[in-house]
Amino acid sequence: MTASRARRKQIELAAKVTGLRAEFAYWQEIGSATGELREYRTRILAITRPLALLLDRLAQAADDPVEDWVATESRIVGLHQIWDYFREKLTLRHLSFAREFLDLADDLAWSCYAPALAAAGPAAPVEPPLVHLARTGIPFALPRGWAFGNAVDPSGSGLRSDELREAVRELPVSVIGVPWLQLGHLPEAVVVAHEVGHLVLDDLGLADPLRAAVVNEFGGGNPQGAAARYWLSVLHEACADLYGVLALGPGYALALCDFAATRPGAATPAGYPPIPDRISLTADALTVLGLSDQAEAVRTRWQTEFADYPALKNTTRFTALMLNSPLDRLGGRTLASLFPTAEHHTAADRLARALLDHQPLPQATPDTLVAACALAFSRSPERYHAQQSPTIPARALKHFRAHRQRGPRAETPLPPATPQDQAEAIWHHLTRAANRPAPAAADAADAAANAENPRSEA
Ligand SMILES: [Zn+2]
Repeated sequence: MTASRARRKQIELAAKVTGLRAEFAYWQEIGSATGELREYRTRILAITRPLALLLDRLAQAADDPVEDWVATESRIVGLHQIWDYFREKLTLRHLSFAREFLDLADDLAWSCYAPALAAAGPAAPVEPPLVHLARTGIPFALPRGWAFGNAVDPSGSGLRSDELREAVRELPVSVIGVPWLQLGHLPEAVVVAHEVGHLVLDDLGLADPLRAAVVNEFGGGNPQGAAARYWLSVLHEACADLYGVLALGPGYALALCDFAATRPGAATPAGYPPIPDRISLTADALTVLGLSDQAEAVRTRWQTEFADYPALKNTTRFTALMLNSPLDRLGGRTLASLFPTAEHHTAADRLARALLDHQPLPQATPDTLVAACALAFSRSPERYHAQQSPTIPARALKHFRAHRQRGPRAETPLPPATPQDQAEAIWHHLTRAANRPAPAAADAADAAANAENPRSEA
């Protein structure tokens, strides 16, 4: 006897739910204490646990009357969209040629993030940022819960991009995108430290007290004065550069000279200080951190290579204010006290020389290794990228692999009630999207055409 259409639909939807359950189990397995992706364990759990809680509800909904199947399928599509925001980033770890770079960049992000987290204490968010490769030309950080890109499904099923953004925001993992082109040039991985600086400011609530310090110092309490207005407008980007120096020392400053180099007179993007100011900020930070010789080397490079650029603002006062202000959110500590920058630089410098001279490499942490690559490239780009076997970047990655500390990066589990709360909030987003009236045929055709040619409206 042939099953009814209603029954076929029920069995089909149940199978789709089971498929997703098996997928979550797969990721939790490779993210287990001995799994291949054990470093990502808490992040995989923080994402999949709340989503998996929705599967029982969806399995029940699969038995609903056949008229409701469109809504159930829409919820399954929406759940895949939320999961896929993270899955596509985790899946990159399965690409053998990208794996070492991503693991190093991810460990680098954690080494930049962990000292601030430790100072902030147990109330701070605990999941490390997830680093991935992106099709952009510049790196970016998306704080916990900022979706990116156009996720509209041309069929109108599932979540629209604004709804996806809200739903992803319920999950506690932020992401850092680095351009694919950095796979070919490891020294630029220093930008991960800059992106972590943005996240530290947002996640730990440091931006507001630092803004207040600027208003006091430059405006005498008035945010409208010209100097206060200027520094407030560039504070986030300026602090991200300062954070890069705290975490990676002169390697960051020297890589920035190359990374940020554009034509003199090119427009400065909103929110950024002009290039000369950015370089000057990093030199000032090196001085504050007791690395005056290196600060001088950065200034000399700027004076010789950036002579055509417009005159600077004085960055010294701002830098000292940002790095030396005690912050309640860091238990009264200052940003300058978070990292032993000078000590790390000594290790990175030794490593850079060993890389360039093909000597045995001393033990290295992810941050000193990336800083060392930046220093080595800056000192001798030809030798750094010389065609030899093994190349210097290949040696650096192999060294990272040999000394990598295995295991989850953040051990603190989320409070038991949290996944239920997150699941409830996500169910609400899925239900709202499932109950949205289907688009008219003409609108659906337009959406499909735009999805195939996303620039058609630009
Ligand atoms: Zn930035």
